[in-house]
Amino acid sequence: MNVHERYGLTRIINAAGSYTPVGVSRSSPQVGAAVSDALGRFFVIDELQATVSLAVCERYPAADRAAAVCHCVSAAVTIAVAAAMAGEDPEAVAALPDATGMPHKVVIPAGHCVNYGHPITTSIRLAGAKPIPVGTARACSVDEIDQAVAQPDTAALMLVSSRLVQGRDVDMGRAVAAAHRHGVPVILDGAAQDRRIDALLATGADVVLVSGHKYLASPTAGLMIGRRDFVAACRAQEKGVGRAMKATKEALVGVLAALEIRDHDPNDAWREAQDAKVDTFIAAVEELDDNMSVERWPDPSGMPFSRVRLRLGEGHGPHAAHRVVDALARADPSIRVMTHELAHSVVGLELVPLDAHEIKQLVTGLTRVLSEMNDEAPGPDAVAPNR
Ligand SMILES: *Cc1c(COP(=O)(O)O)cnc(C)c1O
Repeated sequence: MNVHERYGLTRIINAAGSYTPVGVSRSSPQVGAAVSDALGRFFVIDELQATVSLAVCERYPAADRAAAVCHCVSAAVTIAVAAAMAGEDPEAVAALPDATGMPHKVVIPAGHCVNYGHPITTSIRLAGAKPIPVGTARACSVDEIDQAVAQPDTAALMLVSSRLVQGRDVDMGRAVAAAHRHGVPVILDGAAQDRRIDALLATGADVVLVSGHKYLASPTAGLMIGRRDFVAACRAQEKGVGRAMKATKEALVGVLAALEIRDHDPNDAWREAQDAKVDTFIAAVEELDDNMSVERWPDPSGMPFSRVRLRLGEGHGPHAAHRVVDALARADPSIRVMTHELAHSVVGLELVPLDAHEIKQLVTGLTRVLSEMNDEAPGPDAVAPNR
């Protein structure tokens, strides 16, 4: 009996992306075996951390680079901000989140104030810092960043690389250079960008934060990769606010296993495999319904894959996209999709974790839902389903 059968849990087909409420990603059997083995052992945790640091730096070599693991990227944001405020000074580490006497302002482009389940500004505040959004959600210039980081008591510049970011792209390299001119360190949150670590590091940020459990598919983990002394200051927070955010031994071992698997899964081959899934899916559904259009949606932040957008037309009546999402979720297995564009009648689908059988189930589920909707064409008094 598997765990779903034993406890009567909802079976999921996850087309919602690396989404926390449904378990984010599926680890490979090799990662599972490594984790299972680790759970029965003791380790010198510092040794495991040093081993991960070495493994990361072998793959992303640079002078003066190190890496460390914490619980997740949300934790890593808090830890990196705390590190920027306290350095490796034990008294300052122990004092946070009381930031009295420390630089405590964290400059962040307004469009980078993302919400990935909670506002990133909450992770910044948890360290005892004060977020200082600059520019507007639509645009933030390097000049505006330059002026903001020049203010007294600035601890760090926070940048985010994610499809969640709003507005015109901020030139990361120039923003980093501006902060560095004022002696301000830069923290770059690239949580879902583990196939772009090279590009993130190339911005010159002092530390780059990447989730282990998103596309890398390790157990829950946050990777902090950057300047050796900055990473050391991050680890110093294990005796401060970072205590509740620590890496587990199984996460450390799982990250090592996941990094080894990634060596045999280069971006080009991965992109081809993802493209093939998207092609198969689009071919199967593009003729399905006169009132639905289907399009390929390349990842807007440069990860090497595309998602799918289903656009529900007027013919299905009001709130058609909501009704599709709800009906798919009620199926067994429950089909979960991306809902952030429902206001534009768009249902998003990410196929990355799905196998061929699950893609078939997705097509079957969607076909059934659309045909049911066509059977019960809604009257003018149709109301939005409760969400
Ligand atoms: C997912 C995500 C996070 C949070 O990552 P966790 O490792 O799940 O805590 C932070 N920032 C961005 C941009 C994300 O996409």
